[in-house]
Amino acid sequence: MADLSTELIHHPYVAPEGFAAPQVGVFKASTVYFPSVAAMRSREWKDKSAYTYGLHGTPTTYALEERLCTLEGGKHCLLVPSGLAAVALVAMSILKAGDEVLIPDNAYGPNKTFAEGELLAWGITHQYYDPLDPQDLEAQISSRTKLVWLEAAGSVTLEFPDLVALVRICKQRKVLTALDNTWGAGIAYKPFDLVSGESPALGVDITAHAVTKYPSGGGDVLMGSVMTRDHALALRIKLTHMRLGLAVGANDAELVLRSLPSIGLRYRAQDEATRGLARWAQSQPEFVQVLHPALADSPGFAHWQALCNNGYGGAACLFSVILDERFTHDQTDAFCDALKLFKLGYSWAGPVSLVVPYDLKTMRSVVPKHLSRGTVVRFSIGLENVQDLQDDIAQALRVLR
Ligand SMILES: *Cc1c(COP(=O)(O)O)cnc(C)c1O
Repeated sequence: MADLSTELIHHPYVAPEGFAAPQVGVFKASTVYFPSVAAMRSREWKDKSAYTYGLHGTPTTYALEERLCTLEGGKHCLLVPSGLAAVALVAMSILKAGDEVLIPDNAYGPNKTFAEGELLAWGITHQYYDPLDPQDLEAQISSRTKLVWLEAAGSVTLEFPDLVALVRICKQRKVLTALDNTWGAGIAYKPFDLVSGESPALGVDITAHAVTKYPSGGGDVLMGSVMTRDHALALRIKLTHMRLGLAVGANDAELVLRSLPSIGLRYRAQDEATRGLARWAQSQPEFVQVLHPALADSPGFAHWQALCNNGYGGAACLFSVILDERFTHDQTDAFCDALKLFKLGYSWAGPVSLVVPYDLKTMRSVVPKHLSRGTVVRFSIGLENVQDLQDDIAQALRVLR
């Protein structure tokens, strides 16, 4: 009899083919076997026609990438360990020393921090533009501009830009565009097809998506994706992705695959709850301004309506309030601390509602005129009962009265 260990490791049993079930299997591998040296030399992983090494993909990660392409309307997708890694991968794939990147002033904060830290140290400069002023973007594009970031709606203050105008300017000036698509998630609007019926399609070149948010939906997975429709661009990003050694865990990929079928239902349910609460918040005297792109007096409302209002006009599960400036820092903190169902914590689009107070002065190069003075508090709405959430905010407001 052969040695037991050897026999267990090189076991001859192969399960029958043809297994079919609702969920994609969890394939785990660093090592992938080749049947021959010839196969080892000739197998191609760049076009997903085969398997070579765990870093380059497994049936589980390929399946998730294809489903995310369907969600966002892209053709090529790569998975990375977080949404922030997706943002960084885009910059590292496109930019080199001497180039400049333009970033909207209301971009996801760590996107700006990455530009101010790593990019600057590598000789890549950045400028911040006013996302509500396409002429400001146009004026800032120079021969050194190689990438323009877009975000709709913007982070924390949720202004909705004229995305179509911004993309048209970049196309005219032949500058690549990358959209942080976490808020729209492929549901509120189609980033690669911004104007219906326009041929060729008007859209962004690249999307980065914090899969951590809606695609996961559980508040328990960190993941990001980078997507494009362009084959040459996809290859460029893929080579950087490979050289950086980025990969995601098979169990995390499985969790997202399991959550994806309900993303449409969750997006819509959380959207409706959020809009109801945002409208109610407008009637509370302590809040001098409520920020949500679907509120008629919110900055960029008309652009949101134009882009997101064909069929189901979608908006994500976020709204922010500005607490009257007569409240002290300590009072604002006490209001947030008094919330019971809303937990203090970062991220959003999971089952639990969250709250974060922000200091806008540290976040914007220019504090926009369209914002009232006071402290910004952002709510993200989970899946709890809406009336319970409203009652929670109402009881916490008592600490201010
Ligand atoms: C959360 C978030 C990210 C980053 O995602 P992580 O997975 O937390 O790194 C990027 N962009 C936006 C708009 C986000 O909300």
